Amino acid sequence: MPIVAENRFVIRLWWKLPIFSNVVTSLEYALWLDFGLFCVTSALFVYMFISSSITRLHKVYLAFHASLLLWPLCQFASETTDDPFFQAFYLKFGFAGISVVGVAWTFFAVLLSGRSYLLNRRSMTALAIPTVALVILILLNPSGAFMEPLGEDYTNRVYGPIFWAMVAVQFIYLALSSALLVRTFRDQAAPRQRRQIRMAMTGMIILAGFALADTFVNILLDAELPNVTGLTSLGILFSVIYFVIAIRRYGVFDVVRIAQVNVVDSMSAGVAVLDEHDVVLETNRVFRRLFDIRTGDRLRIESLLEPLDVEGGVDSFLHAYRGNPPRPAQIEVTFRENDAFRHVVIHGEPILANGALIGRVLTFQDVTELRSLVESSYRQNEALQQRNRELVEMQAELYAMNQQLERMAITDSLTGCYNRRYLMQQLEHEIMTNIRYNIPFAIFLFDIDLFKSINDVYGHLVGDEVIKNTADTVRRVLRRTDIVARYGGEEFTVYLPHTNRAQALMLAERIREAVSASEISTGKDGQTIRVTISMGVLAVEDSDPSRLDDVKEYLRELFAKADAALYQAKNGGRNRIVAAD
Ligand code: GH3
Ligand code: MG
Ligand code: MG
Repeated sequence: MPIVAENRFVIRLWWKLPIFSNVVTSLEYALWLDFGLFCVTSALFVYMFISSSITRLHKVYLAFHASLLLWPLCQFASETTDDPFFQAFYLKFGFAGISVVGVAWTFFAVLLSGRSYLLNRRSMTALAIPTVALVILILLNPSGAFMEPLGEDYTNRVYGPIFWAMVAVQFIYLALSSALLVRTFRDQAAPRQRRQIRMAMTGMIILAGFALADTFVNILLDAELPNVTGLTSLGILFSVIYFVIAIRRYGVFDVVRIAQVNVVDSMSAGVAVLDEHDVVLETNRVFRRLFDIRTGDRLRIESLLEPLDVEGGVDSFLHAYRGNPPRPAQIEVTFRENDAFRHVVIHGEPILANGALIGRVLTFQDVTELRSLVESSYRQNEALQQRNRELVEMQAELYAMNQQLERMAITDSLTGCYNRRYLMQQLEHEIMTNIRYNIPFAIFLFDIDLFKSINDVYGHLVGDEVIKNTADTVRRVLRRTDIVARYGGEEFTVYLPHTNRAQALMLAERIREAVSASEISTGKDGQTIRVTISMGVLAVEDSDPSRLDDVKEYLRELFAKADAALYQAKNGGRNRIVAAD
C-alpha cells in the first residue's frame, strides 16, 4: 500500500500573495537559463573549493553545509511551480542534497575524531559509493521507484523503495559516525576535543530528530496525524545554528590554528604537544609514524627512555624535564626497529604560564642518517689511516731493500769487500783529486799463493773459507780510509789514499805477515792451514797533471804496473812484496 505525503510549506502560502505570483511566470521562462547559471557557478564553487588550500576538515564541513542548504532551496523552488516536471526536478535535487548529508557528516566525524589517517582513497571511495548510487537513482527516479505524483502534480506524492533506501542509508551513516564519535569521546582525555565532539553530536542529533519526525508525521503516519510542514527544514536551521555557535566558540576552523597544524605537519621532526598531565593534545604526521601514541593517550617520557641505549645522562635529562621549574631538556635515544637501529634526539620544551607548567612541546628528530654518515666517514677515516700506516711500512721496507740492493751491487758476497767495478769507479774520482792536489797514494795488488792446490786438496769450500779469511785479515790491518776490493778469484787490490812509498811498503809488509800468520781450519780433525800472498805495490808520490785528461788510461797503466810487480813477486819465489817503479 503506497504511503501518501502532503508536503506543504508555510512559504507556499506566501507565494499565493499577488506580489509574488507575477514573478512566478517570469521565473518559469527564465528557469533553464537560471539553472544553467546555477550549474556553472556551482561548478566554479566546487573547483575553488577543491583546489584551494583550506584543510580537509574545512572542505568536508563546507560540503556538508552546502548539501544541507540544497534542501530548503529546492523545497522552496518546488512550491513556486504547478508544473509537475519542475516540481519533480526540484524535489529530486532537494532529496539528492539530503542524501549527501550522511556521507559528508561521516567524513566530518572522522576528521573531528582526529582519525584523518583512516581517510585514504580506498576507504573514502567505499564510503561514498552508496551515496553516489542513491543520488543517481533519485535523479533518474526509474519508473517512479523514488516518488510518484498523487493526482495532477507532486504536491501530493507517493514515495517508493529508493526513498526508504535513502532514509536507511542516512541512518547507517549516522550510526557509524556516532559510534566513532562516542568512542573518541570516551577515549580522549583532551577537554577541547571532547567539547567539540559533544557540540557536533548534539547538532547532528537535532537534525536527525527533526528529519525522523518529518518522516513519521508527514509520511508514515500521514493519515493519522495532522500535517506539520517544514520539519526537516527547521531541523536543518537549528543544527546549522548549533554548528555555527560551536565553530565560533571552539574555533574548529581557526585559520591560524589550521595553518599551524599544516606547518607542524610538514616538519621533518616528530612533534607532540602534551598538557600538564602528560596527556597528548596534538601530534604531527612524523610523530604518528614514529610512535603508536594517539591524541588523548598519556605519554610518560620515562617509558621512551627505557629502550636499549640512551646516550648522555638520563638522570640529568629527567632532572631538567621534571624539575621545578622545568627546563628545556634534550637526550638522544636509540630504538631498535626490526633489525636496524633508529637514533632519535628528543627535545622537551616546557610551556609555562605565570611560572606554572601548563604543557610541553616534545620534538623528535630522527638523526639515524646523520649518525650512519658520521659513522661511515669515521670508518673510512680509520681505513685510510690504516692504509697510510701500511704505505709508510712498505716505504720503509722498500728503502731497506734498496739499500741492500745498492750494497749488493757494489760488494762481493763471499768476502764483503767492494767489488772490482765499484773500486774502479771510485778510483777515477780519487785519482783525479790526487793529481789535481798532488796527493800521494798507493795501490796494492796481491794474489794467494798456490791456491789451486788448496782447492784440490781440501775442496772448494775450504778454498772459499781461505779467500774469506784472507780478506778479513787484510781489513783488520788496514786503516779505515783504505779500500779493499776483490779483484778476481783469489786476487785482491787495495787503494791507500794519502800514502807515500815508505808508508805503503810498511803497510804491505804488515799485510803479508798477518796473512801468513793466520790459521784457517780445514774442518777435519782440528787441522789448520796457512797461506801466503804475493804482492805488487805501486806508490805514486808525484802526479803528472797532464794525466787528468785520460784518467781511465792512466788507471789501466797503474794497474798494469802493479800487476807486473805482482808477477815479479810470484816469479821471485812467492810470499813477498815487489814495489813497481
Ligand atoms: P799462483 O801461486 O801462481 O797464484 O798459483 P795458484 O794455484 O794460486 O794459481 P792461480 O792464481 O792461477 O789459480 C787461481 C785458482 O783459484 C783458480 C781457481 O780454480 C781458483 N779460484 C778462483 N776463484 C775461486 C773461488 O772463489 N773459490 C775457490 N775455492 N777457488 C777459486
Ligand atoms: Mg790467481
Ligand atoms: Mg794464486
